[in-house]
Amino acid sequence: AYDVLVVGGGPAGAAAAIYAARKGIRTGLLAERFGGQVMDTLAIENFISVKATDGPKLAMGLEEHVKDYDVDVMNLQRATQLIPGDLIEIKLENGASVKSKSVILSTGARWREMNVPGEQEYRGKGVAYCPHCDGPLFKGKRVAVIGGGNSGVEAAIDLAGIVGHVTLLEFDGQLRADAVLQKKLHSLPNVTVIVKALSTEVTGNGEKVNGLIYKDRDTDEVKRIDLEGIFVQIGLLPNTDWLKGTVGLSNRGEIEIDAKGQTDVPGVFAAGDCTTVPYKQIIIAMGAGATASLAAFDHLIRTSAP
Ligand code: FAD
Repeated sequence: AYDVLVVGGGPAGAAAAIYAARKGIRTGLLAERFGGQVMDTLAIENFISVKATDGPKLAMGLEEHVKDYDVDVMNLQRATQLIPGDLIEIKLENGASVKSKSVILSTGARWREMNVPGEQEYRGKGVAYCPHCDGPLFKGKRVAVIGGGNSGVEAAIDLAGIVGHVTLLEFDGQLRADAVLQKKLHSLPNVTVIVKALSTEVTGNGEKVNGLIYKDRDTDEVKRIDLEGIFVQIGLLPNTDWLKGTVGLSNRGEIEIDAKGQTDVPGVFAAGDCTTVPYKQIIIAMGAGATASLAAFDHLIRTSAP
């Protein structure tokens, strides 16, 4: 059995594994896909102290750093069940199971997609999901934000300060964001809000996005907006379905943690985008992974026989 078993091989999991291994304890890391969301990322300009990098390069850096330590890396393995106990058991899709005195869950999240033609084709070529990450790439340009909840309206306000013009499209008849955000949004000169809009297609010139097609749900009229960028803000889905009923989750499915990354199951910690941590970013996930790992070590020295 391991002392620490990390489930997830993104920035949070890599940081957790390195911090654990540096304590000289038996450390395992299992991941469906080592690198996590970073593998789907192109330009990264906000990983502090590295002015510019890209996803695959950062993922390789994570892997090299983890491999520098005595960590059992089990890549391409999907966890399907967690069974609490003095020794916590993680069951895998392939039928095997792995046991550990403590577990750090860092299974990340995925952006909810519009599922319309063009979205996949132009992902990273105008279709974006993270305004903090990609906003500056659209300086002075025209963008749309899809989604009128808090994250969509926050994104529109944020982007309005960088880009030329923002069109916010909401499916419903009204925005769902907090009133104070809506007030701020409506005060901005370069934002247009369209409600009852069903986005139907992302168009492009083969290389980059050049427009968005939507249907006016009142009139059924099909309309087109010329633009260079589309920020999809219709939700972030944590990869925690397999933990339902075992580990305490928020109503959004995020693993509930305290300031040390402790969940409501003894010996089980969590870090990164799969948790209730505010703001989902690489640097934040790494810090959270370190926190959860130190907390797991703290737990071990208090509960394990010498
Ligand atoms: P993830 O990176 O999601 O990693 C989760 C890991 O868990 C993966 O290894 C996955 O395979 C594994 N996993 C999931 N379920 C299971 C399971 N059941 N069993 C085993 N393993 C499992 N952030 C920035 O700071 N700057 C940026 O420029 C930036 N750009 C981005 C661009 C895109 C297109 C995307 C999608 C995200 C971007 N982000 C950016 C966000 C950033 O990638 C995430 O915040 C970060 O990767 C979260 O790290 P994590 O370790 O918590 O989760």
